[in-house]
Amino acid sequence: MDTVKDNLAAVEERILNACKKAGRNREDVRLISVSKTKPVGLLMEAYDAGARDFGENKVQEILQKAPLMPDDVRWHMIGHLQTNKVRQLIPHAAMIHSIDSEKLARAVSAEAEKAGRRIPVLVEVNMAGEESKFGLSPEETEDFVRSIAPLPGIAVKGLMTIAPFTEDPETNRPYFAALKELCLDIDRKSINNVDMYELSMGMTGDFEVAVEEGATFIRVGTGIFGERIYASQGQ
Ligand SMILES: *Cc1c(COP(=O)(O)O)cnc(C)c1O
Repeated sequence: MDTVKDNLAAVEERILNACKKAGRNREDVRLISVSKTKPVGLLMEAYDAGARDFGENKVQEILQKAPLMPDDVRWHMIGHLQTNKVRQLIPHAAMIHSIDSEKLARAVSAEAEKAGRRIPVLVEVNMAGEESKFGLSPEETEDFVRSIAPLPGIAVKGLMTIAPFTEDPETNRPYFAALKELCLDIDRKSINNVDMYELSMGMTGDFEVAVEEGATFIRVGTGIFGERIYASQGQ
């Protein structure tokens, strides 16, 4: 079986190749090791191989793992977030990638303020209009960004998307390209308190294409930690 260290090296190689192909600097793409469902022992293997950015989709898992991992780990919340979980998440989250409602944005801002923080967030966009996914439609994203921009406890940094599951990564290229366009469009409006720079897109199956289309964060789980096994069906 491949070790996490070997897997990370292989992913790193693929990122480098994609950067080369696209004429981008490797430093402009940050790799998030998506460790959901995986035990802390495996996260430590990734940490020892140099990983510092970890992605989880459940607040509960961040709460369990954070005390067991070194302090310089940056936790990225990448899954759907319920407002009643926000308070517990705030002390741990380096960034929240999944802002998808005004109610959630307000809750995050309020709790961050109480904690004396201004937390970087991304707005989740459902580029393919999939019923099963959260996120704003591309059409409503600019108005949404304007509505949350004044909130004092958050800093909007860009956009995130979860592209459809596919065997052929090329089929997701138009979604990644369109997210980048949307980001540039909104950036041109120069909305106060909004920095439209970060693009969180690309997973194990399609991250090279995402890097070619301008991803600044890629979120890779299976490619680093292996297949996830869920106790019950459904994810
Ligand atoms: C699980 C997950 C990933 C990682 O998926 P892989 O295909 O295992 O790389 C990326 N982003 C989000 C939002 C996820 O929930």
